[in-house]
Amino acid sequence: MSKRDYYEVLGISKSASKDEIKKAYRKLSKKYHPDINKEPDADEKFKEVKEAYEVLSDDQKKAHYDQFGHTDPNQGFGGGGFEGFGGFEDIFSTFFGGGGSRRRDPNAPRQGADLQYTMSLSFEEAVFGKETDIEIPREETCDTCSGSGAKPGTKPETCGHCHGSGQLNVEQNTPFGKIVNRRVCQYCNGTGKEIKEKCPTCLGTGKLQKRRKIHVKIPAGIDDGQQLRVAGQGEPGVNGGPPGDLYVVFHVRSHEFFERDGDDVYCEMPVTFVQAALGDEIEVPTLHGKVKLKVPAGTQTGTKFRLKGKGVPNVRGYGTGDQHIIVRIITPTKLTEKQKQLLSEFAEISGNVPQGEQEESFFSKVKRAFKGE
Ligand SMILES: [Zn+2]
Ligand SMILES: [Zn+2]
Repeated sequence: MSKRDYYEVLGISKSASKDEIKKAYRKLSKKYHPDINKEPDADEKFKEVKEAYEVLSDDQKKAHYDQFGHTDPNQGFGGGGFEGFGGFEDIFSTFFGGGGSRRRDPNAPRQGADLQYTMSLSFEEAVFGKETDIEIPREETCDTCSGSGAKPGTKPETCGHCHGSGQLNVEQNTPFGKIVNRRVCQYCNGTGKEIKEKCPTCLGTGKLQKRRKIHVKIPAGIDDGQQLRVAGQGEPGVNGGPPGDLYVVFHVRSHEFFERDGDDVYCEMPVTFVQAALGDEIEVPTLHGKVKLKVPAGTQTGTKFRLKGKGVPNVRGYGTGDQHIIVRIITPTKLTEKQKQLLSEFAEISGNVPQGEQEESFFSKVKRAFKGE
């Protein structure tokens, strides 16, 4: 299947600004979010949008994509840096083309694998942060044998077949003569060691699958898609190497009426046309409790108000965002006879012409146009 152009996926032009990219992503990810959209291909589209955004929102990845497109000649090296490789050794063998055929000392210390855990947070939990325990299944060093795999009181011995190298030379007869192939030693599975008496707890593997409780402190202001690195909580290292890291990736659920953009929060407030015309003091919800807001007389629909510092605390501690309120004027429906009568009277007095600065100038323009002024 050929991949769609990332710009096409987000419906934007190649010259789109960072802001436009973000806006397009927010709109589409909402539209196709599997929690909201139940169409069969929504999940696929959601992933496509997410992938496009991941690339186009990252300056480095975007530049790379703009230059090479989907057919990335360096894909094997990982366009997104070296994350995801097991450690230095893997990068090394990739660069030097050794791969599987490169001889690797089975006794060399290796870093343990990184683990990923996805955590779902409510809107408020992400805003204010929280401390929680998570349980992750991971491999741990066997306590009984301290990871050696040998029965307590015994020691693993050097494999007599490969003499500790973990590899064997295998001769093969072909029409062109004898070829020597290097293969992983099947007697020790490439470990270079032979365990005569296996540890009864781990059956010789030196490792056990355990569920481990890890205390995680989620900082206030974390946002959807961000991740937290918990150093040293991945899988244990091999041959005394350091453990891997644990990455907690956050999925933040949307809110009933708040919408978040970075550290700022947006919400719409309905007001009656009477409140908007005469002015009023209204109560608006914020993440930090209710706040009184003065709506001045003559407020138009779509007018924005800003409540400074009522947004989301910055995850790196750089202050707090603002809350933006967008006023929506609600036209009344289901009027009683009395209300209709009063409104008709109102219309009569005002000559049925919209009253307000903008409208008046618009109408006077129209009038002038008709009179040919
Ligand atoms: Zn061996
Ligand atoms: Zn054991």
